[in-house]
Amino acid sequence: LVLARDVSKTFGARKALDGVSVSVAAGEMVALIGPSGSGKSTLLRSITGLQSIDGGKGTISVFGQTVQKDGRVTGARAARRRLGMIFQQFNLVGRLSLFSNVMLGALGRLPGWRGMLGAWPSADKSRAMQALHRVGVSDYAAQRANTLSGGQQQRGAIARALVQGAEGILADEPVASLDPVSARKVMELLVELNKRDGLGVIVTLHQVDYAIRYCDRVIALKAGKVVYDGPSTGLDTKQLIDIYGPEFEDAF
Ligand code: ATP
Ligand code: MG
Repeated sequence: LVLARDVSKTFGARKALDGVSVSVAAGEMVALIGPSGSGKSTLLRSITGLQSIDGGKGTISVFGQTVQKDGRVTGARAARRRLGMIFQQFNLVGRLSLFSNVMLGALGRLPGWRGMLGAWPSADKSRAMQALHRVGVSDYAAQRANTLSGGQQQRGAIARALVQGAEGILADEPVASLDPVSARKVMELLVELNKRDGLGVIVTLHQVDYAIRYCDRVIALKAGKVVYDGPSTGLDTKQLIDIYGPEFEDAF
């Protein structure tokens, strides 16, 4: 899915990423944890080429194709198609219907102002409906995105990633804005897409218990460095206190 080697990213005097190497295989379900400012979002943005990394030795490839090398971003568009990105704030177009948002994922554009539903290619329409059905929000297809609940919007965002042909998902705090019930449902959906459909998932989480419960592997960052990378089973609070220090309970 993703291979990152010795990746650093400097903002002014601050190292957001400091020699990060991470290798995630295609069917894995990985949690990326760490306190605020530890570099989680920076790493995800670098993986899809939304942001360049420092030049020199760092490289990133997605599905074997180089995205970052020598401080240059290449092939980011393909990487973003194959790795759907999900964000905390859902990132749907609020005034459009859920269906149109997903079609936007399928076509990369809207059919134009004059194009009513009939203007959509029917194969794409049925793919979009299938994706909405798959994530459990097909009943809300016609509803404007900004009138949906957070959980429904997040499912819609996942449907949009599926319909654009994503083979993996990078989710940056997808449940941070959700109530606990919706949050668990979105995590369960990600697990299902991983286990049933084989999608690789990298998800940043503030809740360590979610990381342990839903993900098979945990990568922990501290000040831009990987301080733990291993199975989630057996990872417990005591270990994290060893990693992050006694203030860890407040750190996330
Ligand atoms: P959070 O849990 O709060 O989302 P994070 O682990 O995602 O935190 P990042 O957003 O990756 O952390 O930020 C890592 C560090 O890089 C922070 O110190 C942040 O201030 C800095 N940083 C990130 N983006 C920029 C930017 N565009 N310009 C300057 N500094 C930045
Ligand atoms: Mg972040």
